[in-house]
Amino acid sequence: MTRKRILVTGGAGFLGSHLCERLLAQGNEVISADNYFTGSKENIVKLTRNPYFEAIRHDVNIPLYLEVDEIYNLACPASPVHYQYDPIQTTKTCVLGAINMLGLAKRTSAKIFHASTSEVYGDPDVHPQKEAYWGNVNPQGERACYDEGKRCAESLFFDYTRQHDLVIKVARIFNTYGPHMHPEDGRVVSNFVIQALTGEPITVYGDGLQTRSFCYVDDIIDGFLLLMNSKDDLQGPVNLGNPVEFTVIELAQIVIDLIGSKSSIIFKPLPSDDPRRRQPDITLAKTKLGWQPEVTLEEGLIKTISYFEKLLGSPSRQEKYIEIVKRERRQSVQDRRIANTGASANGSRDRRSGTSDRRAASDNDSLQTVAVAD
Ligand code: NAD
Ligand code: UDP
Repeated sequence: MTRKRILVTGGAGFLGSHLCERLLAQGNEVISADNYFTGSKENIVKLTRNPYFEAIRHDVNIPLYLEVDEIYNLACPASPVHYQYDPIQTTKTCVLGAINMLGLAKRTSAKIFHASTSEVYGDPDVHPQKEAYWGNVNPQGERACYDEGKRCAESLFFDYTRQHDLVIKVARIFNTYGPHMHPEDGRVVSNFVIQALTGEPITVYGDGLQTRSFCYVDDIIDGFLLLMNSKDDLQGPVNLGNPVEFTVIELAQIVIDLIGSKSSIIFKPLPSDDPRRRQPDITLAKTKLGWQPEVTLEEGLIKTISYFEKLLGSPSRQEKYIEIVKRERRQSVQDRRIANTGASANGSRDRRSGTSDRRAASDNDSLQTVAVAD
């Protein structure tokens, strides 16, 4: 077989690390580019033993010059807590990250996959959600940095294919869970599992009757690979998710039962713009990719629980993990400040030196003229 060189942005994150592992297992050369904002070296440390794996500390808001055959663009915090931590950076990551990676795909003629999200449907009026539904997003709300950022990224992908003939693959991913989720991620599955394992109260937001459809990570990665390797004319967007819908309170009860936990359930305020219902219509993925999830919620939760049990098992390991994660996050925030300052300085130079520099920068699909605003 031909060994492909594949770039995975966000390769140290939850989904990215599983994807890197699968691509390496297929015999490819894999490069992870990650700024470690929400990802962790712990997720990829075992991959570093493979000589065909390379991890680069890189923020996708800055252009990247590599020679690659394929790109999976996953870089972006996915948990509401994390993407709302620095919303301007989130929008930049979605939009400038997409421009930079599309620019790289254009220069290298690489096929490019984009991790879009069910959040493009917002708080949906249509149920279940089909790809043809345009969504119901609050453009000023606290989730907008992510939802609108991802919507803009989708526009960019389709503009690049129309304008530059790129081969694009856009997946709309619904709630996914499994090992390698960040323990302080704030997402519902990791929160509930950790709370149930440690005997803390399970925090249900709102009345808990809002729904989500939870897909196990192995199923999602199968979907990514099938979509990337589908015929060029299948550009997407394609919904990838498990269509079995649960209320949040049902999830809490299942987690408590599987762990045999003594945790109580407490109710906390519902975050703003929290979607009431979410369930993918996966007809397109079934017919075009022959894909559908195989892992039930119980099976997936058992594997996830066992992952978190090991992580929490030894207090020293837990402390070490949290310490590493915090250190990496501090470093990533610091890197971002430096990058923004650098970009600002370059941006000012570009403005002063007139149109030819601006044109050159835009030909490179570079961030540097755009990132001046922050
Ligand atoms: P994650 O937060 O675990 O991983 C994201 C990775 O991107 C992290 O390693 C983080 O450090 C990195 N990153 C963030 N900003 C970056 C930047 N500017 N430059 C370089 N790296 C950066 O999240 P995840 O669950 O693995 O999600 C991966 C992708 O899938 C995201 O694009 C997300 O929007 C999308 N997605 C995930 C889900 C889900 O349920 N997991 C659902 C819908 C969409
Ligand atoms: N949620 C909850 N308790 C928690 C974390 C989340 O009840 O500790 C709810 C949240 O309000 C939402 C659902 O669980 O309705 C899924 O939240 P998550 O952050 O995992 O992802 P979202 O689908 O909202 O992006």
